[in-house]
Amino acid sequence: MAKILCVLYDDPKSGHPKSYARDDIPEIKGYPGGQTAPTPEGLSFNPGELLGSVSGKLGLEKYLADAGHELVVTSDKNGPDSRFVKELADADVVISQPFWPAYLTPERFAMAPKLKLAVTAGIGSDHVDLQSAIDRNVTVCEVTYSNSISVAEHVVMMILALVRNYIPSYKQVIDGGWNIADCVQRAYDVEKMHVGTVAAGRIGWAVLKRMHPFDVHLHYTDRHRLPLEQEKELGLTFHESAEDLVKVCDVVTINCPLHPETENLFNKELISKMKKGAYIVNTARGKICDTQAIADALESGQLAGYAGDVWFPQPAPKDHPWRSMPYHSMTPHTSGSTLSAQARYAAGTREILECWFAGKPIRDEYLIVHDGKLAGAGAHSYSEGDATGGSS
Ligand code: NDP
Repeated sequence: MAKILCVLYDDPKSGHPKSYARDDIPEIKGYPGGQTAPTPEGLSFNPGELLGSVSGKLGLEKYLADAGHELVVTSDKNGPDSRFVKELADADVVISQPFWPAYLTPERFAMAPKLKLAVTAGIGSDHVDLQSAIDRNVTVCEVTYSNSISVAEHVVMMILALVRNYIPSYKQVIDGGWNIADCVQRAYDVEKMHVGTVAAGRIGWAVLKRMHPFDVHLHYTDRHRLPLEQEKELGLTFHESAEDLVKVCDVVTINCPLHPETENLFNKELISKMKKGAYIVNTARGKICDTQAIADALESGQLAGYAGDVWFPQPAPKDHPWRSMPYHSMTPHTSGSTLSAQARYAAGTREILECWFAGKPIRDEYLIVHDGKLAGAGAHSYSEGDATGGSS
């Protein structure tokens, strides 16, 4: 019998939903590039249900109980007295989500001598100190691709919301106003703007593809250049560095992982090289941007808008500068946790657990750390000795 410690975000204030806005969600069997969606042997939930909060239990309750395992689910994760820290002592498996990250720092690894598997129910394992996982031979995996398209859709929504000044216009309606000039004095069309992505991986590429029909000029930078035919398909301009890209773009979207190379990449200096009045959309990780530099650039007018759904830390404290800075369209970390995405990352988590308990190999594309080294997707995204620090 194993103890599975699962950290999920809080239930809705009104309690776990008894009914939903829609009766079904489209079935997604595979992703661009040919990877199949998760293929667990069984499912104990209906796709479209709220699974990512505490009562949803990622749909794992029945499966784990039937298999004789203990499942502990909590949202209480911060500080030394949190339930998460208290339960770590005899946990075999930790499951967490980037939306509500249970930071697995070196100190917390030391408190978890039995820990063998850390699963990210979603994508992005930077809340886990990967070097500790390597040193302690803990397997780390995530459900690659499960919410990449969900995030790409959110990015497109945020680009349009910023450039067209949607949120303040919506607020006019809610507040009972009708001052059109107030709404449009900061509203533009995206048509013919220069839109660039820092990284053209799964999400970055999906954003470029979705922005293409808006008749914009598309740019990207990445560690590896895309094949020529992919560049031609969307008419992309490649830039050797983020600095080269930001100089010419009206809108910059950030879609690279957080690692030492990208931490604080968008600092005061890089932002000062952007076109005046540019927009940034960051759904990758909060720490890729310098918190105060973003707020200052919005105040000074160097940036016309900032949007995204990733913060540091999460949840963001009430006085986080990004809550009150002007011209932002921030959301809490929601882009990758639509009900549609939840169905996929919950199924992927179950697939990983089924493989783990049966002693079968976990899909290579889900692996970040395995057998004491970076593996699978992790070997591609991170560098040994220079991996993330559990966001400590
Ligand atoms: P991918 O691994 O498919 O793509 C990441 C890309 O970033 C790769 O092409 C990689 O290049 C590139 N890259 C890495 N370092 C740099 C750098 N220094 N400069 C430029 N490019 C770089 O990941 P996804 O597209 O699926 O996800 C990207 C990130 O988005 C995740 O790491 C996560 O942090 C975030 N995310 C956020 C979610 C949310 O809910 N908001 C949900 C899912 C993900 P190469 O491979 O060529 O080395």
